[in-house]
Amino acid sequence: DNKKVESVKKMIDDVVILLEPQAKLKTIKIECFVSEKEFIYCDRSQIKQVLINLVKNAIEAMDEPGTVKIAADSNKAHSEINIVDEGPGIPEEIIHKLGEPFFTTKQTGTGLGLMITKQILERHGAELKINKNDTVGSTFQIIFSTTI
Ligand code: ADP
Ligand code: MG
Repeated sequence: DNKKVESVKKMIDDVVILLEPQAKLKTIKIECFVSEKEFIYCDRSQIKQVLINLVKNAIEAMDEPGTVKIAADSNKAHSEINIVDEGPGIPEEIIHKLGEPFFTTKQTGTGLGLMITKQILERHGAELKINKNDTVGSTFQIIFSTTI
């Protein structure tokens, strides 16, 4: 266990630098709405892995040019990070299968990203909420309790 107080903005910036080339190839813009004042108590490399998994999925979900949004917010009790894509959204009938090992709808997917994501978040006492957006795409929301 290697948890420290970490800057959310720094972790997100690192992940964006890593995945921007892949996004650019598909004419996808990554927009961040993250204050420098956001901090969470976490294992930095593990939470970066979570963000990589979710942002990669967001990019992979989009077949047309568009925007992936990453936003962080907090109140007294919680810190959250939202990853919002403009993909097809998640069909109702597969939503309960997300995070099952090897469940993938991709030709060359491993179906391990969300499983690993859930395991890491569990170790942080954090929660993953998955929602279909009203208009287009889906939102993956990570919720950290600030009272650990
Ligand atoms: P992989 O990316 O290798 O398929 P994941 O565990 O990361 O494995 O994701 C599992 C499945 O969840 C994907 O194959 C896809 O069907 C669905 N999924 C994940 N993220 C999204 C998203 N942002 N939009 C739509 N479907 C998604
Ligand atoms: Mg994936």
